[in-house]
Amino acid sequence: MTPALSFRNVSCRFDGADVVDGVSFDIQAGEIICLLGPSGCGKTTSLRLAAGMEVPSGGEIYLAGECVSTPQDVAPPEARGIGFLFQDFALFPHLSVYENVTFGLGHLPKEEQKARALELLNAVGLSGFASKYPNILSGGEQQRAALARAMAAKPKLVLMDEPFSNLDPQLRDQMRDLTLRLLRENGAAGLIVTHDAADALRMADRIAVQNKGQILQMDTPEAIYQNPVDLHVAAMFGPLNIMADAQTGGQIGVRPSDMALHGQAEDFSVDGDVQNVRAIGPDWLCDMALSDGVLWQALVRGGERPENGLNKFFVPRARLMLFKTQ
Ligand code: ATP
Repeated sequence: MTPALSFRNVSCRFDGADVVDGVSFDIQAGEIICLLGPSGCGKTTSLRLAAGMEVPSGGEIYLAGECVSTPQDVAPPEARGIGFLFQDFALFPHLSVYENVTFGLGHLPKEEQKARALELLNAVGLSGFASKYPNILSGGEQQRAALARAMAAKPKLVLMDEPFSNLDPQLRDQMRDLTLRLLRENGAAGLIVTHDAADALRMADRIAVQNKGQILQMDTPEAIYQNPVDLHVAAMFGPLNIMADAQTGGQIGVRPSDMALHGQAEDFSVDGDVQNVRAIGPDWLCDMALSDGVLWQALVRGGERPENGLNKFFVPRARLMLFKTQ
């Protein structure tokens, strides 16, 4: 099947630096990809390239098999048939919610525009808001109206830039679920930029981890969490303890939540001098020093409060992460 979006060796240079550096990936029809990475790694620029808002300095971009961006020629955003949910594409303040949602539907008869807008406003829980103006809506309501607008023209691809970053945690969960449901119901592919691993783990069919302009790894949430290709990728998904691996000269990574005070003989084990224990709900966060002075943390699940002082911690071998030296 033809991918909804393809990047072929795409680069984008600002002031002599490659902000996006030789990026290639495909997004299949209906697939949801989260582009995850630290601040400044080039996520938004990648999205803007896909949208036709930046000119690549190298490579090609294809939408549904059609070449839409090369360094010589870029089809403009409005010619791409894409849905946008960008911070700088906020709702038009002078248009009602209804007019915002129907904004891109001018090619349809009025009755069809109305049916589509009402269907979407109903889907996002804003049925009673059609005639209201954005300035009286709460942040969450504005976000839902913007989502309805992004989906209105039944795009086959929706680009979203940090769509949940301004929402409080409870609204964030609701919006993630709603966004996912609307994308799936409409059979739309999604490219969602986020710096929040929880967004990516919860929403993506596949996650692409970006750092310094390059895609380091692209895989399912499960595979990327359990088998990160390097320390950068591993560290995107939560805290990580590191030690040198004397046998290979590489490094061993262990997530605090994979450490336990009890284990099997064949488990990896490490002695830690526990110096501080904090209750994190039912679990215990232990700060410890290894024999060489390196500081580690263990998140011990439930049970009795661990004792300060020397303890042996166990990690199932399958949970060890082994990295070559960076
Ligand atoms: P964040 O998560 O903080 O939004 P990001 O990963 O989305 O970061 P980008 O917005 O893509 O990163 O920016 C990547 C780098 O490119 C940054 O150093 C930024 O300052 C620079 N940059 C982006 N747009 C331009 C521009 N138009 N001109 C010059 N430099 C730019």
